[in-house]
Amino acid sequence: MSVIVQKYGGSSVADVEKIGLVADRICATRDEGFGVVVVVSAMGKTTDELLGLARSIDPNPPRRELDLLLSTGERVSMTLLSMALQRRGCDAISFTGSQSGILTNDWHFDAKILEVRPVRVLDELARGRVVIVAGYQGMSYKREVTTLGRGGSDTTALAMAAALDAERAEIYSDVDGVYSADPRVVPAARHLGELTYGEMQSMSDAGAKVLHAPAVEFARGKDIPVHCRATFAPGRETRISRQALAHRRPFAVVGQPAIARLWVAGSDRERRIALQATRALSVVPYAETRGEEVTELRIATAHVPDWGRTRDTLMAHPGITLEEGAARVTLVGGSAEVHRATLRAVLAEAGVNVLDVDTHGERVSALVAATQQDDAVRALHARVILDPDTDD
Ligand code: ASP
Ligand code: MG
Repeated sequence: MSVIVQKYGGSSVADVEKIGLVADRICATRDEGFGVVVVVSAMGKTTDELLGLARSIDPNPPRRELDLLLSTGERVSMTLLSMALQRRGCDAISFTGSQSGILTNDWHFDAKILEVRPVRVLDELARGRVVIVAGYQGMSYKREVTTLGRGGSDTTALAMAAALDAERAEIYSDVDGVYSADPRVVPAARHLGELTYGEMQSMSDAGAKVLHAPAVEFARGKDIPVHCRATFAPGRETRISRQALAHRRPFAVVGQPAIARLWVAGSDRERRIALQATRALSVVPYAETRGEEVTELRIATAHVPDWGRTRDTLMAHPGITLEEGAARVTLVGGSAEVHRATLRAVLAEAGVNVLDVDTHGERVSALVAATQQDDAVRALHARVILDPDTDD
């Protein structure tokens, strides 16, 4: 049977009326003869509200309890959607992450999927049912409920699509795809019709919220086309696939807030011990640079739910210094080495103070003060993305 995986973001299932509209769409897809697996996010801002509730009790909530709490958001939307489908005469069943066979490591709040064993999902598909899967959650090998990081329902959807060898994955949200910059920051941002997996991966790794970063790898591994669409305004979409024509010059600018820099100094042994301390606290750096005397780590603190406490523990460690208040802006596409100089020149001209520049494959990033993030994104978009005169 050909399977289609559809994922609906929080705004698409924000209230009962929208859940009904989504149910109509799902019925229509099933009536075309596809096996349909639907991954849902929590309704509207539920996850933020639950997080706020937890923080009102403890600003650094224990991660295990937090994961159990946050996983309830998706359980609400999955059950309501299943009821809406059944009410329409469309046979359906909803599953939690654990029931759908999503096995993760034990990194609470930012868990990684280790394996998907969709035995129950396959059984129910074979019975002709639509299967609704709670996004954003899994079960660790310790049989604990885990969550996959904010925005993690995308990863659930594409991991499930890969495990089921789906025909395609459709990602529905309130935007009609991927843009050359966040349209709230850059109103002139361009819609991108097609992206390769690598291009999407680069944007997500740079911090773009459109698609959760670990998600893309699952689709790429099994060559599953991903279509990003607006739920309630059909029309344009972004298609991510192997066949997409790669961009030959920078095509997007991505800003990522809340970056902390951490320096670990000392002898080799002292540094190893200090780095072990950071790992024990489950702070995952997105970059680690080992210098002669100092190792630098960069951490996106939004991924650390108890950052206040974590930061204090790290700073108490001898040999560790830490600085917050930075943001990262990244030019994606083209040759990073070539565009390094352009990035520096454009930011200097815009009066943005650059703390550091680094390159990864087809990305070049500048670290800037958090207060200058949006100015930096706007300047780079105007001068590099929209201005055809910039060198390639
Ligand atoms: N509900 C979770 C969040 O808000 C997961 C998701 O929406 O993908 O981060
Ligand atoms: Mg989301």
